[in-house]
Amino acid sequence: MDFLTFMSVFLLLISTSCYGLSENHHGDEEGGLLVVAPAKQQKEFDYFLLALLWPGTLCQGTNHCCSANACCRSNATSMFTIHGLWVNYNDGTWPACCNNGSNFDIKKITPLLGGLQIYWPSLSCNLESTCDGGKGLFWAHEWEKHGTCATPVIWDEYTYFLTTLNIYFKYNITKILIEEGYIPSNSEKYPLGGIVSAIQNAVRATPLLVCSDGAVQELRLCFCKNFEPQDCPNNVTPEEACPRYVSLPEYVPRITGIN
Ligand code: 5GP
Repeated sequence: MDFLTFMSVFLLLISTSCYGLSENHHGDEEGGLLVVAPAKQQKEFDYFLLALLWPGTLCQGTNHCCSANACCRSNATSMFTIHGLWVNYNDGTWPACCNNGSNFDIKKITPLLGGLQIYWPSLSCNLESTCDGGKGLFWAHEWEKHGTCATPVIWDEYTYFLTTLNIYFKYNITKILIEEGYIPSNSEKYPLGGIVSAIQNAVRATPLLVCSDGAVQELRLCFCKNFEPQDCPNNVTPEEACPRYVSLPEYVPRITGIN
């Protein structure tokens, strides 16, 4: 390769990669990308993924209610809610449960609870598994499984939840779609390509959508470590992949008795 070709490839690589925080890896460099590993053996993650849920689709599976389940709220609007801020490797794997000593403590996020209850609610009555094998709140699951692996960008529980809320508000996907005519509906179907383009235009990066029976169930946005949007890799399984035309079901509260 001559020098000019080398420089062109080099510049292309620089211009298309995320920049910002250090890329220093530590620990296991053997390529053994562990899904669950103790923190000391954990390789630093490559990018963030903000996973959003579409309650209009997920709440269709609700068959009993409790006060903790946002599917049972009578006043909820049709909007994406937060699933979690995840950290991934470029090869399609991800670390999980990186610090068993950092158990979720709800007291640490007291100032955020009002916002979390609205925008990051549980869509189920069941407690979720925690990294030490116990059961806890949806927030406990997300922090312990994903948030503890976000070092060296995010080091603590409060910053994890605050950062996630901030990105969620900055890229208001529900608003972006409604402004482009993608209105929640129990009768319409929309072209997947149109939804993806609307988000690409607003966010300047390609999202990833996950469907269930042709209905949007989850929408993922990807970010560099400096929180600049980046394209998400298209790595959904065939079962999760969306068809060419998708529905965006309107949220219908499932009030079948609080228990
Ligand atoms: P959670 O356990 O946070 O509720 O949801 C994570 C689920 O999403 C897991 O079942 C995991 O297997 C799956 N998943 C699918 N794609 C990704 C990804 O890109 N990153 C992470 N961290 N999990 C993913």
